[in-house]
Order: sequence, then structure tokens, then C-alpha cells
Amino acid sequence: KSPGTGQRLLVIPQGIEQARFFQAIEELGQTLGVENVEVNDKPLVDGWYMEHPNTHDMMPILDDEELVASAVVYPSDTEEVQKIVLWANKYRVPIFPISMGRNLGYGGAAPRVRGSVVIDLGKRMNRILDINPDDYTCLVEPGVSFYALYETIQAKGYKHMWIDTPDLGGGSVVGNTLDRGVGYTPYGDHWACHSGLEVVLPTGEVIRTGMGALPGNSTWQTFPYGFGPYSDGIFSQSNFGIVTKMGMTLMPNPGGYESFMYAFEKDEDLEALIEIIRPLRIGSILENVAQVRHVIQTLAVKGRLRTNYFTGDGAIPEEIVHEHARKMPVGDHSWLYYGMSYGPEHIRKYKLDIIDKEFRKIPGARRIDPKTLPEDEYFWSRDRIAAGVPDLVELLWVNWVPNGSHVAFSPVSPIRGTDAMKLFNMGKRLHDKYGIDFFPAFCVGLREMHLIVEIVFDKKDPKKRKAANDCLRELIDDAAKEGYGEYRTHLVLMDQVAGTYGWNDNALKKFNEKLKDALDPNGILAPGKSGIWPARYRKRGWEL
Ligand code: FAD
Repeated sequence: KSPGTGQRLLVIPQGIEQARFFQAIEELGQTLGVENVEVNDKPLVDGWYMEHPNTHDMMPILDDEELVASAVVYPSDTEEVQKIVLWANKYRVPIFPISMGRNLGYGGAAPRVRGSVVIDLGKRMNRILDINPDDYTCLVEPGVSFYALYETIQAKGYKHMWIDTPDLGGGSVVGNTLDRGVGYTPYGDHWACHSGLEVVLPTGEVIRTGMGALPGNSTWQTFPYGFGPYSDGIFSQSNFGIVTKMGMTLMPNPGGYESFMYAFEKDEDLEALIEIIRPLRIGSILENVAQVRHVIQTLAVKGRLRTNYFTGDGAIPEEIVHEHARKMPVGDHSWLYYGMSYGPEHIRKYKLDIIDKEFRKIPGARRIDPKTLPEDEYFWSRDRIAAGVPDLVELLWVNWVPNGSHVAFSPVSPIRGTDAMKLFNMGKRLHDKYGIDFFPAFCVGLREMHLIVEIVFDKKDPKKRKAANDCLRELIDDAAKEGYGEYRTHLVLMDQVAGTYGWNDNALKKFNEKLKDALDPNGILAPGKSGIWPARYRKRGWEL
């Protein structure tokens, strides 16, 4: 295929002549096979979650053509990844690795630098290399999805092992874990649960971390640290290497489980609820990363357009949300707590009794009996997810507006009632200011919580995109002034978020830049990812 002959203008990375770029692409085709190198010169097609593009962000908050690849390549093994890296160094072409590219809300499959060559690792590197039923571990390549891992374990009849899955099961175990994604069993902190990486460095060498560095070891997936400095951390949310294999621990089947849900009447109940949650969570009476979701999400996750409820301007009025919530099986409420108790019945009962006694201290708190809920109620999706069964129901709230897209604001805070209320009020004020519906959900980790606020917007409406972007930028700055930082962010917000981690005259940023320049002297690997720019790009107007 000769580049530049499609129906869309090919975006060539800045700083390289067109003829030289075409020559480079041709050489890459000769190395990997022409069928494994695709130039991005066709119209951009967004598809949907399961048939997502690997050429651009299908949920853009800037112009459609802003975050686009020049080409996509499909390596089949670690050696081919090395060849791509050496090729990128030879031609100074920026490359951007994805495992599966379903990072929706954070940039999808798009590269940070326009015209980068996306390395789609998942298409051909999708093998489950090992599942160890004695150690409860596995070793996977980037293209293994949560669905694939779950289904393989079921097919092997390993009923004694569970996986942990995020809300959507179509993502990559490696990609989600490297972005420090979250699931909802006690193994929900994916990064904390991984053990061992194989990484191709930006100059082409391959390393194995932890015990993987010891030839002949049989503990790569059981002891994550090995000997000496623990290097795994620098390969997550970074642009210091391309991960080609990752070990993951699996959860033992707890011998029973039971989902539960409580409703709380008022927005202000959040403060007392979070105070009650903290000791129960730290003490593992509340065992999983549960979600505390606001009433508007009860409506949105029905999958209907907001115009079914409200056709006026600005954010949907609270009384309308409550009027419709009242008619739903869960009844009216401000907050819903979705949790799960694990273990045989007598053990669950011990924990559930404590939780019940504590939650009912909040006036008007109600336990909703799952037996009263229809099969299609969202509760049952959370029930599957918290039992490690991949699901897709969570996608429904993206249909809240036409051409539904979303982008997340995800600050970390202590598990404190005052912090929860401060963030809630800040979010509400700024969403009202920009006329955006406010979707807050608190995901409570062990000693901190992530507030996940999803801004759902119509991607075909430039004004809505701008409002989403402006609102997020103000949220990030206001939150930082109060001491809250994001745990993860969208590609276009990475510079701003990285800038909020500026203690001691940006000492951390300087450290990251030193690492970047040492590991990637030509600055070819994912320039700008997480706000880390290689020397070649620094202070040349790339930051957003
Ligand atoms: P990818 O897109 O492949 O990768 C993610 C990031 O890691 C990218 O920045 C990429 O550059 C980098 N990366 C990937 N692979 C490599 C590699 N091999 N080497 C180096 N860098 C690499 N996320 C959650 O965590 N929890 C949730 O509960 C959740 N709920 C969601 C609900 C909805 C409705 C939607 C739309 C999204 C949700 N997400 C959630 C976000 C996202 O869909 C998942 O995190 C998803 O798993 C990420 O996509 P991926 O696994 O395909 O990773």
C-alpha cells in the first residue's frame, strides 16, 4: 500500500520530511510485513467500545484531527517490538504503544503527539502465556482482555480462581494495570496485584523486572520485588518503556458472596456516610472497592437520553432527577452504596450485621433488598463485576446525550466526610457554571478514595466539547489549590495535571525528565505522556 493515496490527508509527524517518512514506512513494512503496517489516510471512523478505532480518540474534546496517528503497526512478539523501537530511533519518528486502546475517557487509542506511529500490541500479541492454578497467578501479553482471561479460566474449569475486572471487561489486563486502573473485588488495585514485567526500553534493550531478572527462577509471578531498586513503578503511566509481558495475581474463590445496596436520602448524608465507611474499609469489614453513586447516575445508567427527562438549558434540575428516581425500583435517594461481602454465609452475616448497624446510624438510610429488584436493574451488573465477571452494562450512561462521549476528572482524597463534601460542592458549583450535568461517584480504596466525575458530552457539538474542557481545567486547578490531585487523566490534560505535582520547584518533574533523557535520548517513545517531554520537544510549544 503506498502511503498518502487514501481519502484523508495523512498526518506526518512534525520534523520529518514527507518523502523520508514514506521511505521509513516502507522499510517498516519490509521488516514486519506490509500487512502489519497501516497508514492512517482513511476517514476517521469512531465505531463504539467493542469496535473502537486504533487511529484516534473516538471521544475527542479537541478537534477530531488533533490526536491522530500517522500509521498503526502490529508486532507479533517482543523481538518485533524491539525492531520498531530501533526503526523509530533511526528515523526519529514518535511512537505510542497501546495494549488494546480502550482507554476511553482518558484518550482512547490516541497518541499524545499528532502523527505518532501507534504500536497496537494487542492485535497479535494476545496470548495467555501461563495460568498457574497452584500459585493463583498468570502471565499475559498486552492483547489479553479481562473477558479473555475470565473465559480461559472458566474453560479450564478452574473454579477456585477469580479475576478482577474494571466496570467494562473489554479492556486489556496489561493496559488497564499500567494506567493504574481499578476493579471491584478485594484485588481491585490492579497495579498492586501485578507481579513482574518484561519491558522493551526506548533504545531497544529488553529487561525483565523483579525475579524475572534471575535466569531459571520460578517466582517471577509470586514475588514482585526481586533484588535492588524496584523498577516496575517507572513503567506505569509513563513513557519509559513498552511492556510486552506482565504477571498478575488471581484471587481465590472466597466460597460465597453477596451484594448489598443502601440508599441515603440527602446529598449532605455523604459526610456522615464517608466517616462511617473509613474504619470499616480499613478494617476490611467493607472488603471491596465499592462505589457510592449519586442519584443522577441511577437515571443515566438506564441508557436513555437526558431529553427523556429534561429538555431545558443548563444542568438538569435536582427536583426532576428525584421525581424520576421515585418511580424506579430503587426508589428516591441521593446516594446509593453498592458493596459486596465475601465468604461463606456465617462469615458474611457477621460483617453484614456490622455494616447494617453502622449505615443505619444515618437517618433515613435504607437497605434495598436485592430480591425486590428486576433482572435488568443496574445492581446486578455491579453484582457480576464485584464477583470478577466481566460486563458491559456500565456503557449505558454514555448514551445520556447524542453522540455520547465522556472525559473523567478523578481526584484522590482522604476517606473523610469533610473532603467528600468539599469535592462534591466544588464539582457541583463548576458543573452548574458550565451547564453540565454532574455525575459524581466515590470509589473507596483502602486508605483513600478516588472521586470519579464523568463529564458526558456530545462530541459533535464544539460548544459542548469546549464546556467540558473548560470545566475540567477549572476543576483540576481548584482541586489542586485544596490539595487534591488526579490519579489519572486524559491525554490533553496531562501537562496541567503533572504541573499540579510541583512540590519543591517541580522536583519530581525534573527527576522524570532526567530519567526520560537517559532512557530515551532521541525522545521517540510517547513524548508528552503524563506531562513528561523529552529534551527534543521541551519548551517548543507542545504543552497544552
Ligand atoms: P490501553 O488503552 O491499551 O492502555 C492504557 C494506557 O496505558 C495508554 O495510555 C497506553 O499508552 C498505556 N499502555 C498500554 N499498553 C502499554 C504497554 N504495553 N506498554 C506501555 N504503555 C502501555 N477504567 C478503570 O480502571 N476502571 C473502571 O471501572 C472503568 N470504568 C469505565 C467505564 C466506562 C463506561 C468507560 C467508557 C471506561 C471505563 N474505564 C475504567 C476506562 C477504560 O475503559 C479502562 O481503564 C480500560 O481498561 C483501558 O483501556 P485498555 O485496557 O485497552 O488500555
